[in-house]
Amino acid sequence: MSGARFVHAPMTQFPVVDDCLQVGGVSLMQLAERVGRTPFYAYDRSLITQRVELLRQHLPAQVHLHYAIKANPMPAVVQHLAKLVDGLDIASGGELKVALASGMNPEAISFAGPGKTDKELTAAVAAGIVVNLESEREMDRIAVLGKRLGTRPRVAVRVNPDFELKSSGMKMGGGPKQFGIDAERVPAALAQIGELDFDFQGFHIFCGSQNLRAEAIIEAQAKTLELAVKLAKDAPSPVRLLNMGGGFGIPYFPGEMSFDIAAVGTSLGRLLNGIDPLLAQAQVVVELGRYLVGEAGIYVCRIIDRKISRGHVFLVTDGGLHHHLAASGNFGQVIRKNYPVAVGNKVVGREREIASVVGPLCTPLDLLADNMELAKADVGDLIVVFQSGAYGLTASPTAFLSHPAPAEVLV
Ligand SMILES: *Cc1c(COP(=O)(O)O)cnc(C)c1O
Repeated sequence: MSGARFVHAPMTQFPVVDDCLQVGGVSLMQLAERVGRTPFYAYDRSLITQRVELLRQHLPAQVHLHYAIKANPMPAVVQHLAKLVDGLDIASGGELKVALASGMNPEAISFAGPGKTDKELTAAVAAGIVVNLESEREMDRIAVLGKRLGTRPRVAVRVNPDFELKSSGMKMGGGPKQFGIDAERVPAALAQIGELDFDFQGFHIFCGSQNLRAEAIIEAQAKTLELAVKLAKDAPSPVRLLNMGGGFGIPYFPGEMSFDIAAVGTSLGRLLNGIDPLLAQAQVVVELGRYLVGEAGIYVCRIIDRKISRGHVFLVTDGGLHHHLAASGNFGQVIRKNYPVAVGNKVVGREREIASVVGPLCTPLDLLADNMELAKADVGDLIVVFQSGAYGLTASPTAFLSHPAPAEVLV
């Protein structure tokens, strides 16, 4: 990334009043009292709303926006988003319950993920949601279930594309993958779908996550449309749904910056204007998780001890890896880097120092900030980890060492 100094992107989404962070208009100290305990996750409702508005402003008007629930399945968050987006994407039977309870129209819910059980598939067919087929065997299984239920299952084919999303944090397509049906096998699968009693919807092509390069996202979208046109030639009925995935990333680490959403929106508008007639009837969907909720959330824990070991300051907190695996560096990172962290009630502070923030677990992996410049903090102060609205609580091993789970609030 040219010209990037190796500092964190500024976390200006949360205002600071009297050197204390504000969440949803509430000062962090007051919020901690209101929650009644630490650690906790707090999500700012208005920041989530603003993020949807930003996307609506830049993405072409005909594009539907879906929320991928696994990023943050807190029911209050899902209910808030259900009123703002056009659909929900789920990845388990548990998420199906949360999605249906949110009031979202079942026709706008789709279910992706390998290894769906008969129970999950039955619930999905009975609910009338779209199932993204991850394999030929899943296709055969759901056909049997549909017959038993007397319903035509609404299905889309998840395609494992023959390309990758470049510079993606997590590659979800291209090469051999457990996700979707390999692009070259899709024509045969479509012929089968035509013979079975399915309500064929279209395609789901998701190539990767956490991308911060607009050019890479633009290239992937162009290739996705190209592949969809090619596959549409063999579709048993007109393609009505094209879920193009998402992959929009957020800046977590020093040197990372937000990508140019305006450039992605403009390019997608151009691509859709010139779309092949084979896809003219297709509802185009972009599905996003972390981009919608990640920057709206913080993780908050309290300093229990301050100790100095051989000249190095350790701020020991009541929170850690068991609540926030990703911030500890153990959720898919190759080299550990610090998330943006601050002392929430002393954002600038009177004095600053280099310190490490650790948790209560008996492992050196339990590290929330390694050698970071922070306000000089003491016992009772609140440590805040930013960019924590996605893949936080539910992506962490909360049972490890049997500490209580953190609270969660939507403010
Ligand atoms: C996890 C997932 C997403 C969301 O990914 P983000 O990086 O959080 O945007 C979208 N689609 C599918 C199919 C997923 O599995």
